[in-house]
Amino acid sequence: MRNDEGQAAGRVMIRYILFDLDNTLYSAKTGMEEDFQRRIIAFTARFLGITPEDALAQRQEGITRYGATIEWLIGDKGLTAIDEYYAAVHPEGEEDVIPPDPQLRLFLESLSLPLAILTNSPREHTDRVLKKIGITDLFTHIFDMRWNGNQGKPLPAAFTRALDALGSDAGSTLFIDDAPRYVQGYLNLGGKGLLRDELGRHPDYPHPRIRELPELIRYL
Ligand SMILES: [Mg+2]
Repeated sequence: MRNDEGQAAGRVMIRYILFDLDNTLYSAKTGMEEDFQRRIIAFTARFLGITPEDALAQRQEGITRYGATIEWLIGDKGLTAIDEYYAAVHPEGEEDVIPPDPQLRLFLESLSLPLAILTNSPREHTDRVLKKIGITDLFTHIFDMRWNGNQGKPLPAAFTRALDALGSDAGSTLFIDDAPRYVQGYLNLGGKGLLRDELGRHPDYPHPRIRELPELIRYL
């Protein structure tokens, strides 16, 4: 359905697209997320003075109450060295595994809608990854974890702050993320949310999903 047909039918039309970054704007097959997950566990083990195995177990339990590891470390473990954490988890050069993606660039340009990013990663990581993909200039806004006061998705405020800054609302902003609980958080706000489940990791997820980003045009 074209935009004008949708409006005639009384449907709420999508006026903005809000993307997650990691494993959403690049393939989960790159392995970058696994790389920084390993560094998160290594930092946590060093910070708490425990083994990596214990750090992994504690974090798996703690993360259920928070959106991101840094929120858990700040909230439950007294972390204050936030820049140190981000530098350890996201060192320069981590983006080397990400290939440029001219096809994605063409696709995003073809959408004729304003695009923004909402990520639980820090800005320096986001900037490096976008530059490597070759799409830095395509986004009107980048909402990173520090921008959200290190309190990220799926907290409702992480979404509503971003939407307010965009001058948009959940019902007319399509949000795409590879993490089911982040998409669910957005759906709970009455938002239009899509899961990018590239590798079929979430067979029981009950809401709309795509494998590749070009499939999102079905939801505009
Ligand atoms: Mg992600």
